[in-house]
Amino acid sequence: MMPFFLKCTQQFMSKRSENALTILTYHRVAPEGQITYLPALSTEAFSRQLAWIKRYYQVLTLADAGRMAAEGQLPEHAAVITVDDGYDDCFHYIFPLLQQHGLCATFFITTAGLEQGQLWEEQIAEAIIDAPLDCQQLRFNTTDYPVHTFATRLRLAKTMIDKLKYLTIEQREQQVASLRQATGVRHSSRQFLQPEQIRQMAKAGMEFGAHSVHHPILMLEQDAVAEQEIRRSKHQLEQLLQQEVISFAYPNGQYGRDFDDHHIAMVKQAGFRYAVSTVPGSNTDINSQAFCLHRVSPWPTSQSRFMLSLLRSTQRDAGGSNGY
Ligand SMILES: [Zn+2]
Repeated sequence: MMPFFLKCTQQFMSKRSENALTILTYHRVAPEGQITYLPALSTEAFSRQLAWIKRYYQVLTLADAGRMAAEGQLPEHAAVITVDDGYDDCFHYIFPLLQQHGLCATFFITTAGLEQGQLWEEQIAEAIIDAPLDCQQLRFNTTDYPVHTFATRLRLAKTMIDKLKYLTIEQREQQVASLRQATGVRHSSRQFLQPEQIRQMAKAGMEFGAHSVHHPILMLEQDAVAEQEIRRSKHQLEQLLQQEVISFAYPNGQYGRDFDDHHIAMVKQAGFRYAVSTVPGSNTDINSQAFCLHRVSPWPTSQSRFMLSLLRSTQRDAGGSNGY
């Protein structure tokens, strides 16, 4: 009987579409054993995945893939590696590993993090996890939550993040401030990319795209706010890089739930040329899909499962992937 791994490889190689662009999504990467507030892929697993990607794909930046597609020159088995949000693991772990493998990536930056040093999710996680050790129970919005162990704090941080995700920027900021008041944790540890790190990565061939200012669910915001979030993030990055920023990643990224045609029009109007969603699937016509490109999230850590996950998600047109 053929081993599972070989069967997957064969299936993967035969069904992989030659003319499609596969766009992979990553978020946090950290060394095994390092405690992170939010889920992170280990550097070892990420490095293994990069080796597999390099073996089966021609990796490009999104700008290069788009340009080549427009010229009808997209290479066979083209892929783009994208990394969302802009935490400093991009510089400390992801960037060196990409260089080690001779690969490039497109990084989407939520620009508020450049000033704040972190985004709302980390502020929530930090407020809960760093609460004083003698804090056994946390009263928040009239409910008591147990916080007597590290595990209960981690669980609560995740619950709160899910709970506060679908609020407007203003409502979310109010809730984060109340939570910080409830735990007494006001400090923010810097965990975000520094402008100089971004410039250094760009110089080494990495592409940067915008991912809004505050990572809002665009569908929940007034048009003026959504438009400002899209345009300001582009402008801030362009100031920092001193070059045009042409790619955008919709926060959370599910078409119809997190953004719609209205926001696609805003992104076009703002002068972007490409925009990525978190809708799973591959991209068979980049020119017509340019403002709602599909992406896949490869998390599995064995080669066979990794390829199987790519195969499954690139053959799906839509689904419920979890975007951030
Ligand atoms: Zn994000």
